[in-house]
Amino acid sequence: MNAIGSIFNGATSLLKGMSVTFRALFTKPVTMPYPHKEPELTEAYRSAIELIRFEETDTHDCVACLQCEQICPSFCIKIEGDRPEGMKKKRATRFDMDFALCSLCGLCIDVCPTTTLKYSRIYDEAGYQREWVHDLLDGFREGEAAYLERAIAEEAEKAAAREAKRAAAAEAKAKKAAEEAAKAAAAPEPEAAAAPEPQAAAPVEVSDESAPAEPAPASAAADSAKEEEGEGA
Ligand code: SF4
Ligand code: SF4
Repeated sequence: MNAIGSIFNGATSLLKGMSVTFRALFTKPVTMPYPHKEPELTEAYRSAIELIRFEETDTHDCVACLQCEQICPSFCIKIEGDRPEGMKKKRATRFDMDFALCSLCGLCIDVCPTTTLKYSRIYDEAGYQREWVHDLLDGFREGEAAYLERAIAEEAEKAAAREAKRAAAAEAKAKKAAEEAAKAAAAPEPEAAAAPEPQAAAPVEVSDESAPAEPAPASAAADSAKEEEGEGA
């Protein structure tokens, strides 16, 4: 290729590149000046799990059932818990989660009976170590004592209400039984059933053939005897 051809090829290629750059001047940018600007994450974005803070209690609801720890295929969750005195449910006292191992499979979220787990929206975590363990209870510890106090008071209130309801039901039952007993005592004794009247014997029809012959009158018998004597003489 001669020099003129090379110059022509170079100029063509330059113009092609410049045309791409020129078109980009009028299109919406697909990049952003991170970290100077916060990225807008899509709804589908997911990162390592975290505990949900519920509005009504202002804390999480992990009852340390260990279901998430047992189902996690990456073995990245470690939980401990105990049952505070006066409460029915247990509370987590340790919830460590190794972000480096989590594969975002979501199994822990699916099995949680109190729905207190969700994917976090963390996007800028970085570190210099292999160990990347987060304490998920961090941020909840401060209000834990106040929550326990409220929860124990609520439990006691509910227990008292249950006991009152049970006592009321027992009282109503006893009252009903007493009323029924009083009603039964006040009811008159049932009279003895009247003996049935003996029925008159039905007349027995006797046929002429089977009926015994009526005795002949005495005069007729005497006449008959005289006739017999006469015949004999
Ligand atoms: S998302 Fe999956 S890998 Fe991550 S902690 Fe939950 S169960 Fe384990
Ligand atoms: S499954 Fe839910 S309630 Fe049970 S230990 Fe895990 S986070 Fe806590």
